[in-house]
Amino acid sequence: MSSLVLAQRHPDDSARRWQQELSNLITEPEELLHLLGLSPDDVSMPADVLRAFPLKVPRPFVARMRPGDARDPLLLQVLPSAQESDDTPGYGFDPLSEADFNPQPGILHKYQGRVLVLAAPHCAVHCRYCFRRHFPYQDHVPGRQVWEQNLQWLAGQPQISEVIYSGGDPLAASDRHLAWLTDRISEIPHIGRLRIHTRTPVLVPARVDDNLLAWLRDSRLQKVMVIHCNHANEIDAEVIDAMQRLRDAGVTLLNQSVLLSGVNDSVQALADLSEALFAASVLPYYLHALDKVQGVAHFDVGEEQARDLIMALKQRLPGYLVPRLVREIPGEASKTGLL
Ligand code: SF4
Repeated sequence: MSSLVLAQRHPDDSARRWQQELSNLITEPEELLHLLGLSPDDVSMPADVLRAFPLKVPRPFVARMRPGDARDPLLLQVLPSAQESDDTPGYGFDPLSEADFNPQPGILHKYQGRVLVLAAPHCAVHCRYCFRRHFPYQDHVPGRQVWEQNLQWLAGQPQISEVIYSGGDPLAASDRHLAWLTDRISEIPHIGRLRIHTRTPVLVPARVDDNLLAWLRDSRLQKVMVIHCNHANEIDAEVIDAMQRLRDAGVTLLNQSVLLSGVNDSVQALADLSEALFAASVLPYYLHALDKVQGVAHFDVGEEQARDLIMALKQRLPGYLVPRLVREIPGEASKTGLL
């Protein structure tokens, strides 16, 4: 596809609704509390925590939170906490040793047969449990010349059949960039599949617009999108509509969530999540044990409790609605099942 065609297809990214949402994020704690009818006495957000990993949350996501509830499961995912300053033994700054799997800037090669492409160095949100909260994104912002080198590297790796867009959040990047990158990747004959790991369609469903759907639909690659949804309350009518449009564009939809204390660590919450996902045409895929990154220990759910939850979930739901409980262990050939 020529750059001229791309230019015609994406005439003015700046005027698009999802980009307006991303440039109008809530970053001031006072505003978030005001919108939810909470007072500073209800929560504790120390200045050092906010400086280290600022508040960042899209307004459509806040609209799904319960006003007046400081323990709302969506709010807890984005609300800075004093516990993030704790220095917890066993927790590190690069818990998955990603620095060891970085053959090129913007590329992480952890597993045989597939490769992670860091398509955007930022997200629409700051999830407080983020395993990449200390990631050196400044070293992974390739310009066009480095992308060309990365594409050459990929072309020389015939064992790789799947490219995984990661980030940051890849859908925080413009469609112009993603369409160009996808087009170039699809010219490499041994790449057959594109997987996109993203939280943006859940946070800002307007991201699933005609321009996104056009390059997804046009690509010869098989498309899989893994949305990162942790609680049933994240799925509203707009998200369901966005998922439907992705499915109609030929995208297989999966979900992976993180097991988070206070957010989804009950059988009821996990069952509701699976049911809500399936109603939105999304299959539950992975339930991740928390990656042990400094600042997130207060979200941890022990492995024994995690196994009990999945066993109880199996009693309640058909097998296809029960996600696989996994942990990522650096150096392993794939995610490690915990059950
Ligand atoms: S969307 Fe993913 S990468 Fe971005 S802050 Fe949340 S957990 Fe981290």
